[in-house]
Amino acid sequence: MRLLTFEHQGQQRIGARTSNGIVDLNQADPNIPAQMRDFLAGGEASLQAARSAAETSEHVLSDSEIHVCAPISNPDKVICIGLNYADHAAESGMPIPEEPVVFSKYPSAIIGPGDTIVAPSVSQQVDYEVELVVVIGTSGRNIAKRDAMAYVAGYTVGHDVSARDYQLEKPAGQWMLGKTFDTFAPIGPDLVTPDEISDPHDLGIRCILNGQTVQESRTTQLIFNIDELIAYLSHVFTLSPGDLIFTGTPPGVGMARDPQIWLKRGDTVVCEIDEIGRLENPVETDG
Ligand code: ZN
Repeated sequence: MRLLTFEHQGQQRIGARTSNGIVDLNQADPNIPAQMRDFLAGGEASLQAARSAAETSEHVLSDSEIHVCAPISNPDKVICIGLNYADHAAESGMPIPEEPVVFSKYPSAIIGPGDTIVAPSVSQQVDYEVELVVVIGTSGRNIAKRDAMAYVAGYTVGHDVSARDYQLEKPAGQWMLGKTFDTFAPIGPDLVTPDEISDPHDLGIRCILNGQTVQESRTTQLIFNIDELIAYLSHVFTLSPGDLIFTGTPPGVGMARDPQIWLKRGDTVVCEIDEIGRLENPVETDG
């Protein structure tokens, strides 16, 4: 299923994108939670209810009638993996990590498709990073790698917007500050369940800045695969339904270019992953 969170007539709801259009799941079945995080916490029962509700020909909306929001706006955790593509580690002048490099964003950084990325005036080096985002569906701790994929609710497209001067040049390198400015975590549009994806570890992934492709790779290039990441992270903390894992970015970031490219007012960034979706956001400044 392709699930989404949307606003219609002033109310936020969840829907399923079908060949007929977008089925309003909350109208089709009032027992289905209107918050994606609550929906995911319902596990297989939620999914079954949504599958049968999505078969209706009623309560169908078109894209023009709704505003699509971030699929999840209030996760317990937004976990990010750094340097998870070998060629991106090389272009960053960093060694290939022997264990995952982990940092986080606050949920307050999340925005949806079409929402504006605000490049803050306190940073002169705001960069783009397209990423495959894993959405956790089942709560778990100390998850074995062989069991890990069963904890995945689905996938979405993410943009790990990064203020490089905060990330790298502040005392001790403030990765989290550089990554968690408001609006620095665009995600969406759809949350795509695993049965819709041929292989999450073999998908084309690209970032297009003002019509020019600036990142282009495949998820085959991931150093630490999704099951390894879930196992590794869950030995530190409990993963919860709705948690997001940004899995790292491929090469081509603005910092590593000659000349370097920084996001500026008027830019449009498209992040795209085959079979998952296309996430477009304009850029504005606050100064
Ligand atoms: Zn990143």
